[in-house]
Amino acid sequence: MIAIYDTLTRGIKVIPVDGSSVNIYCCGPTVYRDAHVGNLRTFLLADLIVRVLRLEGRQVNFIQNITDVGHMSEDFQDEDKLLQQAKLEKQDPFEIARKYEEKFHQDLAKINILPADSYPRASETIDLMLQSIAQLVASGHAYATEVGTVYFDARSVESYGAISGNKLDSLKPGHRYEYSDEGDKRFHADWALWKSAGNRTEMVWDSPWGKGFPGWHIECTAMSLELLDKRIDLHVGGIDLRFPHHENERAQSNSIIGQEAVKMWVHGEHLLFEGRKMSKSAGNVVLVKDLVERGLDPLALRLALLENRYRSQMDLTWAGLEAANLTLKRWRTCMATWGENQNQLEDSEIAGAIAKDIDTPRVLLRMRAIEKDISVPVELKRSVFLYADSVLGLDLDHPAAVRELTSEQIELLQLRAQARNNKNWSESDRLRDLLSNSGIAVNDGPDGQSWS
Ligand code: AMP
Ligand code: ZN
Repeated sequence: MIAIYDTLTRGIKVIPVDGSSVNIYCCGPTVYRDAHVGNLRTFLLADLIVRVLRLEGRQVNFIQNITDVGHMSEDFQDEDKLLQQAKLEKQDPFEIARKYEEKFHQDLAKINILPADSYPRASETIDLMLQSIAQLVASGHAYATEVGTVYFDARSVESYGAISGNKLDSLKPGHRYEYSDEGDKRFHADWALWKSAGNRTEMVWDSPWGKGFPGWHIECTAMSLELLDKRIDLHVGGIDLRFPHHENERAQSNSIIGQEAVKMWVHGEHLLFEGRKMSKSAGNVVLVKDLVERGLDPLALRLALLENRYRSQMDLTWAGLEAANLTLKRWRTCMATWGENQNQLEDSEIAGAIAKDIDTPRVLLRMRAIEKDISVPVELKRSVFLYADSVLGLDLDHPAAVRELTSEQIELLQLRAQARNNKNWSESDRLRDLLSNSGIAVNDGPDGQSWS
């Protein structure tokens, strides 16, 4: 039995066994830019859950949407993120969307995130959204305005605010929820399900309320209900989506099916980089390709993320990534020297840590203890590592890649050895950084400098 933290009930719950498969929906990327390491931390959470369930022998049906329309950006005065980027790159918005969608899949593959069962695109499921909106209008949970915008009536859901704690009476007028409205809402916290096209000519569709485009929240309601047969066992996303996105989605979905649509809401905590929020304006957005350019294995990112529990805020650093890279290499070397058997052996401590809210730091701690324990036969170590790796996904059974040193790297290593002989520590540190940037890790031991 696998238990995991549910944001709605604020406690650890056992993942239900209701149908033949566990239905999982994870909010996917808005495909107007590359996914950064923070986005990947959230996508990794869904992957861990899927792997853990499969290890337990459960069938999983996992869907992740691709938001290629309707996600408005506050930074750009409420313009669609896709249209804004299309203008910047002087390309058709759908070309932009497909380009970044492709890159998203490439990044997932690089960090061993297993593909979902399907990746429905918002722009290709407009009919599902229109059906959902029509149902909400018919049941009195939504209303259309004269201009052809349809709003959800937030006050029609008594338990609004249950996920995030943001109850309607404490939400102040003037807060921007998703769109700057045209003043035709009945209540400040209502949100648009369908937005009238106005002057917008691209990415618009016909609807019973006139030309327009869908809101972001209704996208996830329509896709999750329809594609998972109205039974969403787990709904996964980053903590920032708790409000308003998931709060609004819950109100919509519950109103459509007349009961709690999602059994468990699972949120991954935020990732900072070198102590700061990643943002384009601060220039500190880190991508998988930045790791590769530094000579790091992309799976070092996966390991570095696993060193922290998904539910705690994490500060990722270059030093942490370098350390993870070294651990990865060391473990692959160990695996190669521990033999060739392919048998997985369940370790009760690792199994327990996984089952109790996916405690990956504890799994790694246990692996380090097993690695050092000279009383454990190496074939056994290997089998336990293979077992753990079925969830960790670190490719531990792949021998470390061997590359030739470049002449520049050889020179840097020689210069550093000289600097150390001359006790010129600042120069030796500078050279260590240069080597590290080119993918060489240097270690200082009693016999002098060694590298990998
Ligand atoms: P987006 O492409 O912006 O819609 O985000 C995709 C996913 O990444 C969502 O589930 C977000 O909650 C999540 N996310 C965004 N920034 C971070 C971050 N810094 N750390 C962890 N998750 C994030
Ligand atoms: Zn969503």
